[in-house]
Amino acid sequence: MINLELSENMVKLQQNIKMVAKSMFRPISRKYDEAEHEYPKELDVFRGAPLFSRSKNKKEAPSPASPDKGRSGPALGQILSVEAMCWGDCGLLMSVPNAGVGNAALVAVGTDEQVEKWGGKWIAFANTESGAGSDAGSVQTTADADGGEWVINGEKIFVTCADRCDAVVVWATLDKLLGKAGIKPFLVEKGNPGMKLEHLEKKCGLRASDTGTFVFTDCRIPKENILGDPEIKQTSEGFKGVMKTFDMTRPMVASMANGLASASLDLVKDKMAEKGVEPDYHKTPNQLSAMEKEYLMMEANLEAMRLLTYKAAWMADKDLPNNVEASMAKAKSGRTATLIAQKCCDLLGPLGFTTKELAEKWMRDVKIMDIFEGTGQIQHLIIARHILKLSSKELK
Ligand SMILES: Cc1cc2nc3c(=O)[nH]c(=O)nc-3n(C[C@H](O)[C@H](O)[C@H](O)COP(=O)(O)OP(=O)(O)OC[C@H]3O[C@@H](n4cnc5c(N)ncnc54)[C@H](O)[C@@H]3O)c2cc1C
Repeated sequence: MINLELSENMVKLQQNIKMVAKSMFRPISRKYDEAEHEYPKELDVFRGAPLFSRSKNKKEAPSPASPDKGRSGPALGQILSVEAMCWGDCGLLMSVPNAGVGNAALVAVGTDEQVEKWGGKWIAFANTESGAGSDAGSVQTTADADGGEWVINGEKIFVTCADRCDAVVVWATLDKLLGKAGIKPFLVEKGNPGMKLEHLEKKCGLRASDTGTFVFTDCRIPKENILGDPEIKQTSEGFKGVMKTFDMTRPMVASMANGLASASLDLVKDKMAEKGVEPDYHKTPNQLSAMEKEYLMMEANLEAMRLLTYKAAWMADKDLPNNVEASMAKAKSGRTATLIAQKCCDLLGPLGFTTKELAEKWMRDVKIMDIFEGTGQIQHLIIARHILKLSSKELK
C-alpha cells in the first residue's frame, strides 16, 4: 500500500541538506545570479558524490528491521534532497558536478559496464534541436556507422551544463525513416574535435547554470559509445530511453519547483511574522485577513505538489511504471510554483521587486520548471493520452 509519510531518516536527511543549502548556497546565490557563466568554484566540494546512481538491490524486499518500513528509497531520497537544495538555490544545484541530466540518462539506459566506466563524469543531456523540443522524437542529428566508429552530425540547443560537463549524451537518429525507433543515445566526450560549443545563452533566470549550443561536424566516437544495446538492428527501444530518463528527472524538476515555492513561502511567512501576522490554522476563512488566506492557499498547493512528487518517486523506488505520475507531478509543480513565486512577490510589495531579497530571483528561476524536460502543455498531453487511452498519433 502506498505510504507517503516521510520516515524519521528521510526527515533527518531533508533537515541536514537544508542546512547545507542554507550555509553554502544562500550566501553565494546572488553572486552567481549576477556572474552568469562563471563556474561556482565553491561547488567543487561536491565532486565525486553522484546524484544519480543505479540501485543494485532494486528488487530486494525492504528489511522488516528497517525503520523506514519500505517507505524510503533512492528516488524519494533524491527528490527530498533536490527540494532542500533548491530551497537554497536551484541554479547552483544544477551546477553541482556530476549531477547532469546526462548522468540520469546513463543510469537509465546504459549497461552496467557503461555506468561503471562513465558514472564518475559530469554528463550533459542533448536532445533538443530547433525542430525537436516538445516533439522530442523529431531529432534530425544523425549517427552513421563508419568502420569501428560512429560519425555524428547535427546541432543541439539549450544543453544544460554545456560548458562545464565532461561528456554529453547526444540523441541521434540511425535512420530518419525509422522515426522515433531510430533514435539512440551516444556518449561524446569533451575535447572531441568534431564537437564545438557554439555559444552560451543569456537567461532571465537560473543564471548560475550554463546552457549552450553544440554543433557536431563529422564527430567520430568509438563504436562502444552507443548507450545500452549496441545492436543496430534492435532500434525499437531507442527513443524510449529519452522517456526513461524523463521518468527519473521529471519528479526532480517537480521537486526543484517545490523547493523554490517553499523558499518564497518561507520568506513571506518571516515578513508576515515581523509584522505580527501568524497564519492561524484554526480560523474560519471569513476570520482570516486577505494576506493570511492567500498564504494558506499557497501552502495547501505546496502540499499537493509535494504529494504528487513523492508519489512519482515512491513508484520509481518500487520499480513501478511512473511516467504518468512523473508528468502529473511536473505539470502541477511547474505551473503552481510559478504562480506561488509571483504571488509571494506581490505579497512582499516593493521588497518583492528589489534585489534586497531573493524573491524576485526565485520568480525568474522558477519559470523554467514549466518549460524544460517537457513543457506544462506537453505533460497535460501525456496525462490526457493516458486517461483517454489515446496514442500520441491520436492526440497531438
Ligand atoms: C534553461 C534551459 C535548459 C534546458 N536544458 C536542456 C537540456 O539539458 N537538454 C535538452 O535536450 N533540452 C534542454 N532544454 C530544452 C527544453 O527541454 C525545451 O525548450 C522544451 O522541451 C520545449 O521545447 P521547444 O523549445 O522545442 O519548444 P516548442 O516545442 O517550440 O514549444 C513552444 C510552445 O508550444 C507549446 N506546444 C508545443 N507542442 C504542443 C502541443 N502539441 N500541444 C500544446 N502545446 C504545444 C509548448 O508547450 C510551448 O509553450 C532546456 C531549455 C532551457 C530554456
